[in-house]
Amino acid sequence: MLIVKKFGGTSVADKDRIYNVAQRCIEDYREGHDVVVVLSAMGDTTDDLISLAKTINPEPKKRELDMLMTTGEQVSVALMAMAMDAMHVPAVSLNAFQVKMNSTSRYGNARFKSIDTKRIRHELDSRKIVIVTGFQGVNKYEDITTLGRGGSDTTAVALAAVLHADKCEIYTDVDGVYTADPRVVKDARKLDAITYDEMLELATLGAKVLHNRSVEMAKKYGVELVVRSSLNRSEGTIIKEKVKMEKMLITGVAADKNTARISVIGVEDKPGIAFRIFNTLAANNINVDIILQSVGREGTKDISFTVAEDELKRALEVLEEYKEALTIQDITYNAKVAKISVVGAGMMSNPGVAAKMFESLYNSRININMISTSEIRITVLIDEKDIEEAMNAVHEGFALALVE
Ligand code: ADP
Ligand code: ASP
Ligand code: MG
Repeated sequence: MLIVKKFGGTSVADKDRIYNVAQRCIEDYREGHDVVVVLSAMGDTTDDLISLAKTINPEPKKRELDMLMTTGEQVSVALMAMAMDAMHVPAVSLNAFQVKMNSTSRYGNARFKSIDTKRIRHELDSRKIVIVTGFQGVNKYEDITTLGRGGSDTTAVALAAVLHADKCEIYTDVDGVYTADPRVVKDARKLDAITYDEMLELATLGAKVLHNRSVEMAKKYGVELVVRSSLNRSEGTIIKEKVKMEKMLITGVAADKNTARISVIGVEDKPGIAFRIFNTLAANNINVDIILQSVGREGTKDISFTVAEDELKRALEVLEEYKEALTIQDITYNAKVAKISVVGAGMMSNPGVAAKMFESLYNSRININMISTSEIRITVLIDEKDIEEAMNAVHEGFALALVE
């Protein structure tokens, strides 16, 4: 069997944890399996490297930031190979360059284009455990790129796909995927299984337990995933195409604080204006999320929308630059907002899910700023200060519905 095992930052945060991971990998190896290990940077290394960069230059070039951040993963894989060596097991560490993991050119947010399996196969054939750096790729300029925060999950799934792995296990610091972040909602429940589609929504809406692109890729290539703890032996959560339907209205609640609202006030109420505003933002690589347009008055209207908070500054600059051309009279914004979402395939056949969510928020006197829905998700924008209370209130609202 070929097994891909990915371990996140907390799982390799210090010497004992590194040896613990080495031990778990060696168990599979000793059973005769081929083992490919993907690692993140130790503990808070990536955050620390970003802070370090900002002490030198508050707006570092993305190319150089990628060069810096990817050192974190290189430290982990080298130390892991040393640990396995100390345990008398042959192992080799490889980075994205050595494997030839080719990505698109976009620094800070690259995607894999192709992965060469030759080197990994060769090392596996000589009975080594292969330890690969997560989170990184190499672009056409032979520069090192990163896949976006949390991207090591995607490295693991990509390797599992190209190597046709029999198992892809994502080890982290919680026991699996829960109905909500267990650090925020104390009575969150671990799920035995969840579909790709639901997991993709949760991950995209802020449940950082998996990188959303890893889920997208797992679905595309049919890689079944298991999320489980590196700190204990409990079963974890399986992520696959279809799961046995529990009688659940919703599967999970997710929150995302990395969000900001922008309103453009008094734009001309005529065809083509919305197109021009959002086209201008798109041309500048700014993703827009929830959109709300007010009813027009005196030939003008207001449009509000959300962007990722780390793109707010850029979005405001772009709007300011084209203010006149876009007929904008005034621009307001609020960075202190957050999204809370409920996700579940169960809502397709059950009316009243939105009402239930709004009721839970109302009972906690939490005001809703904007709403957006899809087939299996409802998202509302609220004040950032309310987010933890809102998570608990909504979670409880639906957990109660479960018992009924
Ligand atoms: P790793 O370093 O292992 O990649 P992450 O910090 O990226 O770990 O992801 C794990 C964290 O995700 C957990 O510690 C937990 O706080 C958070 N999380 C958010 N939503 C969920 C959820 N629905 N289920 C489980 N964990 C969640
Ligand atoms: N070390 C990277 C990060 O912190 C990648 C990862 O952990 O998946 O974002
Ligand atoms: Mg992660």
